[in-house]
Amino acid sequence: MKEKPAEKEGTLYISTPVNALVEGLYEERVTFADIKKHGDFGIGTFDRLDGEMVMIDGVVYQFTFDGRMSVIPDDTLTPFACVTFYRPLSHDRIDAEMGYQDFLHLLNRLMPSPNLFYALRVDGLFAHIRTRSVSKQENYRPLVEVAKDQVVFDFHNLEGTLAGFFTPSFMSSINVPGFHLHFLSADFKRGGHLLECRPVSGRIGIQFLYSLSVSLPASLDYLTLNFERDTGKDLDKAEK
Ligand code: ZN
Repeated sequence: MKEKPAEKEGTLYISTPVNALVEGLYEERVTFADIKKHGDFGIGTFDRLDGEMVMIDGVVYQFTFDGRMSVIPDDTLTPFACVTFYRPLSHDRIDAEMGYQDFLHLLNRLMPSPNLFYALRVDGLFAHIRTRSVSKQENYRPLVEVAKDQVVFDFHNLEGTLAGFFTPSFMSSINVPGFHLHFLSADFKRGGHLLECRPVSGRIGIQFLYSLSVSLPASLDYLTLNFERDTGKDLDKAEK
């Protein structure tokens, strides 16, 4: 029998406040079996920051810094994931090639307010797509340092799916504010954390998320971390 979802539809689930990741807590020993109780769609990373995670239709994919894509078993661990049960409310189309800023404006126009969360999924053809991934880290190396070593990938004329979320700016200690999208190519070979793109055609799905569920870790690392530092600038540098 299928397990009952842990949250009601329209809820964003976050496994750890993103601030913990920004401060370098890269091991929380949460399995994807647990994450899947809270959603079938989302983004995140792996223990020790071993690449970029995207979950689409309940399947978890890992894109590592050496450019390899793998399907990940449920007993794999994550320090940070945000997921929802994706049920799009509306769709829109992309019919002409556009630059990244125009693409972001288009997404913005589909959102009635910047004060809600949204799940976003774009299936389409991209003239260009730029992503990044990161390599395995030891705990406590701040995320802003790790991001300096990120590996950037440029793909051309590629079909695939962008999946992720929009988060209100006032939630920036909980989740990455603004748009945060990860990519998976249609041939399941390429992906990563989106830096920019030029979509040509495609379909945009959007779901309004009216509630938030955040787990707080019980690890000693988390319980003893000092969160007084303002991490907003670090997060912006690490994720944009
Ligand atoms: Zn990301």
